[in-house]
Parts: sequence; structure tokens; C-alpha cells
Amino acid sequence: MEKKTNAFKAEIAEMLDLVVNSLYSKKEIFLRELVSNASDAIDRAKFLGLTDKSLIADNPEWKIQIAANKGEKTLTVSDNGTGMDETDLEQNLGTIARSGTKKFREMLKEKGGESLPELIGQFGVGFYAAFMVADKVTVETLKRGTETPLRWESDMSGGYTVSDGDRDFPGTSVTLHLRDDQLEYLDWWRVEDLVKKYSDFIAYPITFRQVDPPKDEKDDDRKRREEREAKPLNTMVALWKRARKDVKQDEYDEFYKHLTHDWEAPFETIPFSGEGAVEFKALLFLPKRATMELFMPQQKRGLSLYVRNVFIGDDIEMLLPSWLRFVKGVVDSSDLPLNVSREMLQDDAIVQKIKSAVTSKVLSTLEDLKKKDAKRYDEFWSAFGAVIKEGVHTDYANADRLKKLLKYPTARTDAGKTVFLEDYVKDMASGQKDIYYLCAEREEDARRSPQLEAARKHGCDVLLWCDPVDDYLTESLREFDGKSFVDIAKGDVQFGSEEEKKAEKEANEKAAADLKPFLENVKKELGERVSDVRVSTRLTDSPCCLVAQEHAMPPSMVRMMRAMKQDVPDEKRILEINAAHPLVSKLKGLDGDAFKDAVALLYDTALIAEGSPVVDGARFAKLLADLMLK
Ligand code: ADP
Repeated sequence: MEKKTNAFKAEIAEMLDLVVNSLYSKKEIFLRELVSNASDAIDRAKFLGLTDKSLIADNPEWKIQIAANKGEKTLTVSDNGTGMDETDLEQNLGTIARSGTKKFREMLKEKGGESLPELIGQFGVGFYAAFMVADKVTVETLKRGTETPLRWESDMSGGYTVSDGDRDFPGTSVTLHLRDDQLEYLDWWRVEDLVKKYSDFIAYPITFRQVDPPKDEKDDDRKRREEREAKPLNTMVALWKRARKDVKQDEYDEFYKHLTHDWEAPFETIPFSGEGAVEFKALLFLPKRATMELFMPQQKRGLSLYVRNVFIGDDIEMLLPSWLRFVKGVVDSSDLPLNVSREMLQDDAIVQKIKSAVTSKVLSTLEDLKKKDAKRYDEFWSAFGAVIKEGVHTDYANADRLKKLLKYPTARTDAGKTVFLEDYVKDMASGQKDIYYLCAEREEDARRSPQLEAARKHGCDVLLWCDPVDDYLTESLREFDGKSFVDIAKGDVQFGSEEEKKAEKEANEKAAADLKPFLENVKKELGERVSDVRVSTRLTDSPCCLVAQEHAMPPSMVRMMRAMKQDVPDEKRILEINAAHPLVSKLKGLDGDAFKDAVALLYDTALIAEGSPVVDGARFAKLLADLMLK
């Protein structure tokens, strides 16, 4: 074939530039990335060979070789995995592997070069880490099942070329032409150290070979070199098969990083085994923080499933309910048949059993954490609270356990603090039957809201629902501990004991009767802006507030529908007036323009108090200035 020159996609060029020029001190991770890729390629080849024997007709002895050439200053990582054809090269090494290139650029800009290692991992661009130590990279590859070996080459600046290559057996070799200040990676001891540190658990032997030993090498030296080169650098023991007490946390951490491309150690490591109905070994990890992939619907990687040491797949739906997609790790079972398709596995009864055991294990880990370490639970909650809420909504079978894991800020907590529903219930005022909540876009607005006044007066706490999904969840939450959830900003809410409610109702009816003409005038004045004006039961200090009608659509739903370009008319709300407020008797005495202006101001203050913008700011400012002059 003719040599083809291709430009990198713009994002890659930009990223490469950053990779090369970054001050990133841990350049050594490039080796981990290349070895990981080699191991993945072998995993895939083994898996494909299960159903298509012709692909592994060469009867491969799976292995990864690292070859150093001191004369040429090259380091080569080779595997006998799947190999790549022209399309693979184009798609895998010419564009950022997964989508989200725009996001990548934004995050780079926002976080700066220091965050590079983290981003490289998250975006699956590990291959390019090679350019941290090399100024040219050559990939020789032959895809299993094809006949044309190819060579991919790039010195970064001029894009990359693809031409005929000369690899004569399937697999891939990545050769780094090292920069002069990076020649340490040609030394056996340095490579051995790195493999032990980052790749010890890789399931295939990783060997090192020096291609050009010194011509005058002494017999003894040669013997020693050959001996050590004959031995794999890694121990190859599957971590999940070892007892927890025999594994150092460091080893778990490195394995986790290999699996996930996370640059940080996991938040929680959970080794466990299933016994009884289905036997399996699992090693699960909870990450420290949510990555972007959590919010990418196309995210497909979940737990890796191994059957008798063969990697079968890591499709997300297979072993985890979708809301648990942040959990990473491995499940290994010998109870599953080896040669079934992934699609069949989805419906397999054994897989279903494993799935529910894994889900339950994650839940019990979180329950334990909640019981034993409130501070760490809060860390988890701030990273993954949103997915727990998603679980309440989507995982009916586990909803009751999940509800107990929910946390919310309340009118009583300090900013940034949250409480569990059971603690809310424990602290309910005597006679309080329902769980109260108030929705707002921001916690500060909720805390200041006049709607909280009567609840406070009656000693009732109120959950502050400020996450857009919160009010969306009411339907799936339904009840907790036999108590319903009641929105205090909606319809007719009354607090306190039955007697208090009764007394209040009577007082209210009387006030409403007394104020009837006044309320009607206010309503006439506000016209289309409100659906009604009435006496409030929820205010003690503020003169008025706006409340939604009983069956109004939740504000988050309105926002969502509008985001989807649906036409949602503004729902008219009710202006509630605090009959006991001195302002009311003042207003009652006004007429003409003075009354008009006062009502306009009253309405605007209700908007401001709840954190909404006033409709006509200029008019509001003028009215206020006039008032001050008076
Ligand atoms: P990631 O491994 O996270 O997907 P990389 O940038 O490291 O990201 O690699 C991009 C893709 O290139 C891989 O997903 C894989 O498809 C392909 N690839 C890389 N190295 C090899 C290899 N040694 N053999 C086969 N394919 C490879």
C-alpha cells in the first residue's frame, strides 16, 4: 500500500502538545499504559478465539515482551494479542478513543496541565503517554485473521503515517524512540521496578530482553543476563483469588488503577466471595470521586467478568444494575460456561444471582460505612449521592435499603451538613405526621425562604431539596417509615397538633372573612400574575409569599421539559398574605396609586424572598426609592 499521511484530529494535536510539554513528573506511567493495552489486546484475542478458533490457529503462547535497544535508543512493548487493521489504527490511534473530546479540552483548560494524568486516564488516551518519553513512536501490527501487516508512525508534529509493515506474526509492537534524557527506561532494573510496581498482576508473562548486549560482554555477565531475562518480571497472580490478608493495599491500588485508568487510589476496596448456590470470587472498588463517565449514557464498562481466567467482557449491564455503574472491579466464576455469547449471559440465571449478590454487597458496604464512619460516608455521599437517588428511582427491589442511604440538608442543619431520613423522623415534632420538604434551586435560597416560618414556629424541621432530581424523586420515594412526603410550598399545609390545626383554621377563616374585600382588591390588582390571593398559614414574620397550587408540576420537571424545547406555560401561583402582619392593616387603608404601588412592591418582595428575579427591576427600584423618600 502507499504510505498515507494523516493529520491528527485537532483535539489530539492539542492534547499531544500538552502531554509533551507538561511538567508531569511521573512520566514513568507510560509503561503501565502500554503494558495494559497489550494485556487488553491479549484478553480480547483469547475471547474472540473462543468462538472463532481460526483466529488463534497459530496456537499462541500469550505473552508481553519488552525489548530495549541501547544503540538505537528504542524501547519496544510487544504482544501477540488482536493486532489492528487500518480502520482500527485510524479509529484507535488517530482520534481520542471515546467521545467527549470537547469536554476533554474544556477540562484541560479549566484544570491546567497538572490534571493531565487524571485526564489521560479518564479519557482513555493512555497510548499517547508514550510521547512523554519518546519523540517518535512506531507501531508494527498484524491483525488476527488478516494478512496485511501495517506500520503506524508519528513524531507528533506532522500527524501520523500508515504504511505496509513487516510484522510476521499477529499482534502489536509499540516502539518508542526515546528522548536523550529518558534513556533510563532502557535499563533492566528500571523496567523491572516499574513492572513490579504497576503491572505485577497482569495475567500474562512480561519479560525483558536487551537486544544489543555489549559485544565484549563477559561469559559470566551474559549468563546472568540470560538467566534474569528468562524469568517473567511479574508474578501474574490474580489478585481476586488471593486472601485479603495476603495482599497489600498498594497492590490493590495498582490493580484498580490498571482496571479503571483512575490516577487516584480507590475509596474502598471490597474483596469477597460468593458461596453456596453460585461460587465466585469478586474484587470490587468504589472510586474516590465521580468521573465524567458517570454522566455519559454511552458508558459501557462495568465489572470485568472472568470465567476460569478468561476475560469474557465488561459490559455494564451484565453484572450491575445501571445505577451502580460507578463500581469497578472483577468477578471470576467457574460456574459459568466458557463458550456462551455475552448476550446469552445477560439472561443467565447464574449471572443474575451474581448480580444480586454483588449489588447486595455494595449496599451492605455502604450501610456499614454509614454506621461506622459518618465522615467517610459523607465523602461518599457528596461524590455519588446522585446515583443513589437514581437507584431509588430505578431499582425497585432495593429501594427500601437505598432510601435509608439518602441524605439531605434541612432547615436546621448548618450549611453543608446533611441528615438521614431516619434521623429526620427521630427528631419529628410531637404530633407531626408527615415529612416536610421544600424545593429550591439553591440551598441558600431555601434556608432564607419565608415558607419555613410556620414550620419553624411549630418545631418542625424541613428537608431542603436543592438537587434537581430531588422533587422528581417524590413519586418513587412515596413514603418513609410510614410517613408521606409533603411539599410545604404547595397547596394548603398546616403544622402542629390536630387541636392547633383546628384553632388555626378557625382563626384563618375569620381573618379571611375580615380581609375579604382587601384580598379581592389585591387579586384584581395583580390580575394575570396570580391564580389567587389568600390568607396564609405558613408565615409568621414575612408579610407574604408565593405558593404553588396543590397539583402543580414540580419546578425541576418544568425546567427539564423546557430544556427539551417543550412549551410549558408559566404555572400561576397563589399569593399568600400573613393576616397578622402590621403591613396588612397599613395597606388596607390605602387606595388609588398608593395601593397599586404597594401591591406591586408586595408581590416583588415575595419573589425576592424566595430567590426569584423580579419581572420589572427598573419599576421595582423606582417604587422603592419613592417609598424611601416618603
Ligand atoms: P484505552 O486503552 O483507554 O482505550 P489508549 O489510548 O491506551 O486508550 O488506546 C486506544 C485504543 O487503541 C485501545 O482501546 C485499543 O483499541 C487500541 N490499542 C492500543 N494498544 C493496542 C495493542 N497493543 N493492541 C491492540 N490494540 C491496541
